[in-house]
This record gives sequence, structure tokens and C-alpha cells, in this order.
Amino acid sequence: MADVVEVRGGPGLRQEHRLVTEIPGPRSREWDARRAAAVAPGVATTMPVYAVAAGGGVVVDVDGNSLIDFGSGIAVTTVGASAPGVVDAVREQAERFTHTCFMVTPYDGYVRVAEALNELTPGRHPKRTVLFNSGAEAVENAVKIARAFTGRTAVVAFDHAYHGRTNLTMALTAKNVPYKSGFGPFAPEVYRAPLSYPFRDGGLDGPAAAARAIEVIESQVGAENLAAVVIEPIQGEGGFIVPAPGFLPRLAEWAASAGVVFVADEVQSGFARTGRMFACEHEGVVPDLVVSAKGIAGGLPLSAVTGRAAIMDAPGPGSLGGTYGGNPLGCAAALATIDAIAADNLLDRARAIGTTMLDRLGRLRDDDPRIGDVRGRGAMVAVELVEPGTTTPDAAVAGRIAAAARARGLIVLTCGTFGNVVRLLPPLSMPDILLAEGLDVLGDAVAATR
Ligand SMILES: *Cc1c(COP(=O)(O)O)cnc(C)c1O
Repeated sequence: MADVVEVRGGPGLRQEHRLVTEIPGPRSREWDARRAAAVAPGVATTMPVYAVAAGGGVVVDVDGNSLIDFGSGIAVTTVGASAPGVVDAVREQAERFTHTCFMVTPYDGYVRVAEALNELTPGRHPKRTVLFNSGAEAVENAVKIARAFTGRTAVVAFDHAYHGRTNLTMALTAKNVPYKSGFGPFAPEVYRAPLSYPFRDGGLDGPAAAARAIEVIESQVGAENLAAVVIEPIQGEGGFIVPAPGFLPRLAEWAASAGVVFVADEVQSGFARTGRMFACEHEGVVPDLVVSAKGIAGGLPLSAVTGRAAIMDAPGPGSLGGTYGGNPLGCAAALATIDAIAADNLLDRARAIGTTMLDRLGRLRDDDPRIGDVRGRGAMVAVELVEPGTTTPDAAVAGRIAAAARARGLIVLTCGTFGNVVRLLPPLSMPDILLAEGLDVLGDAVAATR
């Protein structure tokens, strides 16, 4: 097989939409044949183009195509892939040491990340942080901590929730295929409550939707048995569902009054993605525990649970941790990511990107009755496809639009319990001109499927 084209990533990469082959090109197809023989098919791929470089708002593939990135590797490269500060920090750290294990001989980077998260998460109360590798691992640990603190076992998650693929987080996740089917039995003492889903709630407002959820929790679980409610302030995989105003605050208030730990899974919605550091800030909600991952470390694997000191102090010494949790490279990357968010005004940038996307998608919706809803905050925006004039999900149209966009060199993801949502998650490092071009490509894809 021919050698991979040598290209450096980062913002120096030419910010252009350029197709030189069909998508996927011949070299990507060769790699895909090798992959089929070598990689377990359970790991699926949105777009079988093989990356050689990424940066700013593009991903360059082995065939030399330069694709516009509306996926950010699933909301991870918020500060950009190969962001210069992240690259320098990781290189310097790798030259110093790659690992000692924080549980054996600790290092300052872990402590600095904990201090930063204690500062950045909502609320001015004393806090502590513990670091892990993945979002699922952090969600599991948030549940462990809540159980240790409350002495209760039950956990409530919501309709359409996605919290990961480990055994406990599969139980918390709502959608059967592909996440759960055939993988049971699932962890016990996990219960499900109805979410606020404005597009599908027939006008039910946020407080009323919260009352509906609380009624289910009180009658089917009982607050005295309930350790935690775990909720995504804006749902990710479930369909970029923004709950109606008042839903989250009312739920948090109820949890506080019932001695239930309120866990915000900000894995997808956190770290500047929505124009605030954490999405729950849009409604002034102060969670007891906040789970961070995805965008936290510029592409390196790192996750965290941050929360009230009294809760975080409940599990005793040695009861939390993991070999790689808070790996020094991930910590260096996280500190550089946090610096980049401040230095590059990325909260403002996320809001500006959101305004551009919502405006453009709103105009698409006005012309196309298949687009039932346009929603989101900041650089986390989606369109929900339906049969015209109804709220009946149309996953086939969403799939066709996504396929048409990808064939035109736009990396775009779908989501939703019904598979009928096209979501946009551009890196905040994407220049305006490329954002506009990406939205044009999406508009072409929508038109081509009409
Ligand atoms: C992606 C995601 C997870 C799981 O994170 P992993 O790093 O894939 O384990 C958990 N919660 C939410 C909201 C997510 O979007």
C-alpha cells in the first residue's frame, strides 16, 4: 500500500473544503478492506475516510481530501484538533514523563486540573475532583460517590439518556439498539423518568415536565431509596434535546429537598461547547456533581467528577481511582485546553457559531416541512427530521441528508432515539468562512434529498 501523505495538523493546515477523489477515495477504501479483516465490526464508523491530519475546522484524509468537520470527533476537539497549546503541553510533558500513576507517585498536573475544575464548575462551595479516562468511567464513579454519600442504592436516569457503554452506564442509557441489545443483564436499581422534550411534549412547560418526572420518581422509586438523579443538561446522543426552561432548576430543587445527589452529565454539553463552560449554567443550576470528559483535554482521553466536598469525601482512601486516571499527558492537555478557552474567548466564539447555525438552519426549516425542529445552544445544534406536518420521526430522511452531506465532504453526525436528528458540533477553531461553506454544503444536501 502506498504511504500516507505527510501533512501536519493544527491551525496551520489550509482551511479549505477540497475534494480530489470521490468519498471515500481509493486509499481510504484500501484501509477499509484491511480494517474489515483486522478490526472487530462492533465498532462502527460514520464516514470511512482515513484521517492523516486535522486542525482548525478541517480533517484531511489519506487521499488528500480536505473535509469540513461538523463533528469534532463527537464534541471532543472543541479547541481544535492539534491545538498548538495542547500539542506543546503534551510534548513537554511526554519529554518529562508519560506516567507514574497518581496512586503511586503523584504529580502537580493532576492537582492543577482538580483546582481548575473546582473553580470552573458552577457554585462557590468547597469542591473536590477525581480524574478518570472516559466519560462512562466518570459517570460510573459519580454513581459510586453518590451511593457512598447517601447510603442509598437507586439511581434515576431519563428517557433518551446516553451515559456510556460500560455495564452500569448501559443500564443508565435509554436506547436499546445499538447500545444495549444482547449485552444484558444490566446493573440493577436503575430507574427511568420522563424528560422534558419540548418538540414532543405538546406544550408541557418545564416546571410541569419536572412535576411529571418527580411524580414518577416518588411513586416508583421513593426518594428515601434514591442516591442520585443523573441527567444531561442538554442531551447528546439522545437527540440534542434542550429541556424546556424551568425543568432542570425544578428537578435540582427537588433533589436538594429530598437529599438526592443531582449529577449533571456534562460530558458532551460541557467545556465551552454551548457558549458557557457548562450547559447547566444557562439556567443557573448548580449540580452536586458535574461529570466532564470529551472536550476537556483537546482530544486526549481524560474525564472528571467534580462536586461538593462533603459528597466527594464520602468514599474512603483507596476506594476510587484507576491505573491511568488523570494521566499526566491528559492533565497537561486539559490545562492547555482551559487556557485556550480563556485566551481565545471561546465561550463567545461558541455563541457566535450558534447564532450563525441557528439562523441558517431556521431558514432551511422555513423552506422544508421535513425539518420539524431546529434547536441547541452554542456550537451544539441539531435539526430533527419528521414526516411533514407531523412529529412522526423520519430517520430515513435524516440518514439520506447525512449521507449526501458526507459525499460532499462534510463530516456530520446523526443522533436521537429515533435516529432522525442531524447534529452539528463544529470545533470552535473553525473559521467563519468554512462554517458558512459547511452550512452551504448541508443546505445542498438537504435540497438534494427533497
Ligand atoms: C459520550 C458520552 C458519554 C460516554 O463517554 P465515553 O468517553 O465515550 O465513555 C457519557 N455521557 C454523555 C452525555 C456522552 O455524550
